[in-house]
Amino acid sequence: MKLYSTNNRERIYSLEHAVLKGIAPDGGLFMPVTIPELPSRFFAELPTLGFQEICYEVAKRLLVDDIPEQHLLNIIENSITFPAPLVELTPEINVLELWHGPSLAFKDFGAQFMARIMSYFNRDQQKSLNILVATSGDTGGAVAAGFHQVEGINVIILFPKGKVSALQEKQLTTFGNNVTAIEIDGTFDDCQSLVKKAFNDSRLTDKLRLTSANSINISRLIPQSFYYFESVKHLIPSPDQIVVSVPSGNFGNLTAGLFARKMGLPISQFIAATNINDIVPRYLDDGDFIPRASIETLSNAMDVGNPSNFSRMLELYGSTWNKMRGDIKGYSYDDTQTLQAIRHIYRQYNYIADPHSAVAFLGLSEYLNNTSSSSKGIFLETAHPSKFKSTIDLALEIDSEIHPVLLEISLKEGEKTCLSTDYADLLEYLLDQ
Ligand SMILES: *Cc1c(COP(=O)(O)O)cnc(C)c1O
Repeated sequence: MKLYSTNNRERIYSLEHAVLKGIAPDGGLFMPVTIPELPSRFFAELPTLGFQEICYEVAKRLLVDDIPEQHLLNIIENSITFPAPLVELTPEINVLELWHGPSLAFKDFGAQFMARIMSYFNRDQQKSLNILVATSGDTGGAVAAGFHQVEGINVIILFPKGKVSALQEKQLTTFGNNVTAIEIDGTFDDCQSLVKKAFNDSRLTDKLRLTSANSINISRLIPQSFYYFESVKHLIPSPDQIVVSVPSGNFGNLTAGLFARKMGLPISQFIAATNINDIVPRYLDDGDFIPRASIETLSNAMDVGNPSNFSRMLELYGSTWNKMRGDIKGYSYDDTQTLQAIRHIYRQYNYIADPHSAVAFLGLSEYLNNTSSSSKGIFLETAHPSKFKSTIDLALEIDSEIHPVLLEISLKEGEKTCLSTDYADLLEYLLDQ
């Protein structure tokens, strides 16, 4: 896969460069020069293929020039280790459960795959690779789980003291081994600025091989396209149009869906479902992209005021607003509607949806109510509901069950290093490693 920067189409980068750097030197996002279409033979066989077989077939077409087939097979076998089941609520409304990974969120797909791709590109190095990340919550858990015990890689996670939930802190601090959690006596912004300083400090970068596990890394996006194939395989062949509703914040998940469609997957319509942070639905409505400060909501992983993957979406549509709004319909919902949807899904279908998927359900329902074409819909469930237990309990007036994985983590003792916001402290700590 050859890549260019969304800020400059002229310069071409290798996959290895894009994966290890994360972001282009001009500040743009890496974008594949071409996204190959899969042969019709593949789509004819798709309903009969297993998840790992599908991942391999798709990955092979994208990464054939970068990673030998046997290695790619290993990477898939070691990263796609949990299923992505499609659960039918009605023949028109299906949930794609993306939370069967170790941190119970869809971000596990990206993190597991990225860890193994990085490990592959690091294979001939004597020195281990150090991943330095700042996290405000959910991403850190997926990254820690993804890189845990991956050969040749150390992970150092900075998180703000008292700003992540007790459970989220356990998700960062209970791995041990190659995963180190550092609590910074400051805010998330302090953590991020410390990480930035470290990357720009030659005293460190001369001595340590440092890289980031940023959410915009192309190797997190690629595996997210796999589960679109995995879910649509259950609905084809079909005379109906297939509609997929994606609960969105930074729009990585939806962009991966657009990649899948570009590879030939028959999805007629995407729904961009957001909470009141509705920058993209507004753009689809009137053509103006106006980032603003994010607003806190119950679906907090989507509280994003300047969606980072929007520039990739523009690239896919050659910046043509009319084309994009044909393929993607935008809808947004507030917290009251989200709570009502959680209640409705529970009463109507006896299914507990997390707040993010409830927003996606609302988008799908609104679209299905307004279209005359015969459709089959999928909405994505991006996290297990018990990660948001207090919201579920509030909506349903029950004491909902906690997922056993979360119970187990809550009983473990965590380990962390505590540092101030003074960069000198972090520098000393890292140089001592
Ligand atoms: C990160 C996240 C999202 C948003 O995904 P994007 O790719 O940023 O649009 C939605 N739901 C959950 C639970 C998440 O953790």
